[in-house]
Amino acid sequence: PDVAMRIAAGEVVERPVSVVKELMENSLDAGATRISVWVVQGGRVSLVVEDDGRGIDEEDLALAVESHATSKIASLDDLESIGTLGYRGEALSSVAAVSRLDIRSRTGDSSSGGRIKSEGGVISSQGELNCKAGTRVQVDDLFFNLPARRKFLKSPVAEMRRITKLIQEYSVAYPEVSFLLYGDTKLVYSTPGSLDRGAVLERLWGDEPKVRSSQGERGNYRVSLWWQEAPRTSRISLMAFVNGRRIDEPTIKAAIASGETNSSGNWAVWIETPPDEVDVNVHPAKTEVLFRHGGDLFSSVKDCAMSLQGDRRP
Ligand code: ADP
Ligand code: MG
Repeated sequence: PDVAMRIAAGEVVERPVSVVKELMENSLDAGATRISVWVVQGGRVSLVVEDDGRGIDEEDLALAVESHATSKIASLDDLESIGTLGYRGEALSSVAAVSRLDIRSRTGDSSSGGRIKSEGGVISSQGELNCKAGTRVQVDDLFFNLPARRKFLKSPVAEMRRITKLIQEYSVAYPEVSFLLYGDTKLVYSTPGSLDRGAVLERLWGDEPKVRSSQGERGNYRVSLWWQEAPRTSRISLMAFVNGRRIDEPTIKAAIASGETNSSGNWAVWIETPPDEVDVNVHPAKTEVLFRHGGDLFSSVKDCAMSLQGDRRP
């Protein structure tokens, strides 16, 4: 892979947290019920994501690290109705291009698994391996071949903070999945995979003041909203998801704030909608989305927010 490829890879892989995000989304797409993440030195030394998902066939391992190889969409039409988190087939290849990568995987129905290693996108070894069912991806020396980018990394503590936040958000999105996060061998965060979404939020925010929730529906949008009031600030902190995907959507914050009462505190918004109601194809980082009937969504969020705020007892 040449310099241009490395730079393109740098678009997808901005920092350690982007690697964790892509690997975790692959694990979720593979139906994992348990995802473990190990981070060494904020991810600049090593990052490991291990899952118990359906695994990768040994003969597909090389393909998975090649550019634009995705098993998730078969045609351009599928792009219109994306049901998985990944679909571009450029995450693993991008990570591979800017790191030393080691993938071990076994599918449930095969007796042995496979392992592939690559350095800067060049496959350095490949073979059979006895391992447990699922996939383990290890990313070492991120940006070793993009020194300018490597210098740009924040302190291990700052990188770890981002990774922790990301995993906490995913644990809210997927309460039925058990997440384990280790930082330099210490367990930093975990969920059992058996709580409901509200209980995971209480784990994150604490259960005082009480976390309230409300549900609503408008047009094609089903909205669940959780709120923990913070009386002494005017800050709104918001976590928003659409169809299981974390999104940054300023209009949702606006919808919450458009109610008449004080809306400060922690909010979580969970949106379900048919895949063709939302265009996730706006940006490679994929946190911005477009809604076909944004007005319905706005009203639904606003209704839920107002009913929660009206619900408030002094
Ligand atoms: P995308 O997720 O967009 O399809 P990726 O580059 O992230 O592309 O992954 C390439 C392919 O590798 C996926 O389509 C999938 O088939 C396979 N893959 C990657 N990670 C995993 C995993 N943890 N479990 C099973 N398959 C995986
Ligand atoms: Mg992916």
